[in-house]
Amino acid sequence: MIPPVADRFVAGETAAEAIERAERLDDRGVGTILNRLGEHYDDRTDAAADAAAYRDLIDDIETTDARACISVKPSQLGLDVSEALFRELAEEVVAHAAAEGVFVWFDMEDRTTTDATLDVHEALAREYGGVGVCVQANLRRTPDDLARLADVPGKVRLVKGAYDEPAAVAHTDAAAVDEAYAACLETMFREFDGGVAVGSHDPAMIDRAATLHAEYGTEYEVQMLMGVREAAQFDLADAVDVWQYVPYGGTWLSYFWRRVAERRANLRFALRAILSG
Ligand code: FAD
Repeated sequence: MIPPVADRFVAGETAAEAIERAERLDDRGVGTILNRLGEHYDDRTDAAADAAAYRDLIDDIETTDARACISVKPSQLGLDVSEALFRELAEEVVAHAAAEGVFVWFDMEDRTTTDATLDVHEALAREYGGVGVCVQANLRRTPDDLARLADVPGKVRLVKGAYDEPAAVAHTDAAAVDEAYAACLETMFREFDGGVAVGSHDPAMIDRAATLHAEYGTEYEVQMLMGVREAAQFDLADAVDVWQYVPYGGTWLSYFWRRVAERRANLRFALRAILSG
């Protein structure tokens, strides 16, 4: 059972709790991106177990009317073991999802994984459809990756980037990342046929997306994390397609502390809740 303070950011330990959350979000007009917590597996057994759990989750999604899709981490499906294992397990998940009509996102991890993630995503996008990939505006390579992705079927999620990367390959100050994000967003609205996902809580970027939509007419959606600016998510859902990224699973503690460590306000919230509990 997840303690009350952590349940702001994590839906629960089980798929059933995550599906319940998807149903509550659906009632408020927000779609759900389900992520089973897990990453950096260094053997086949753990990665294959998560691939099987995702196949079960896809079956669970089929039992509800709520709009829900899944988002997987490459290192959760074996990328730290080998690209071949990642490709094999990702294909198992994507093939099952395609048969059931469930969309699959690939999260993007640190810069050492970008090429393999884009290669596997592209192969599966061309073979099955119904997949999308995340790219990080902080990486200097991302404009080139967007040029490649413009010709690949499926959606692309643009985020600022959650990993500390060296200045040789990444913008490292916040203003430069914001500038890169705005430039990438414009490229996507201009060059993509549709399937632009704005993965950000930043009001400036969300406003920018609305302006670009008015200019280019490209369809888009806004994606935000569970527990972050939720009132804004529900407000936005009146006008835009909004999806909430909802993690669940037994390894919730490390995810929770990552969210808390990101912002002083979250740390205050966590300490207040712990002290008053
Ligand atoms: P920021 O400039 O960091 O924040 C803008 C404003 O949003 C802040 O001022 C604050 O009001 C609010 N805010 C942002 N974060 C928090 C928080 N934790 N708590 C409270 N308020 C907050 N990164 C990857 O590298 N790979 C991925 O695959 C990936 N997938 C993601 C999927 C989704 C749906 C989202 C929303 C983010 C994802 N990220 C991923 C994380 C992303 O890279 C950023 O680290 C994160 O979103 C913070 O950047 P921001 O655009 O929200 O802007």
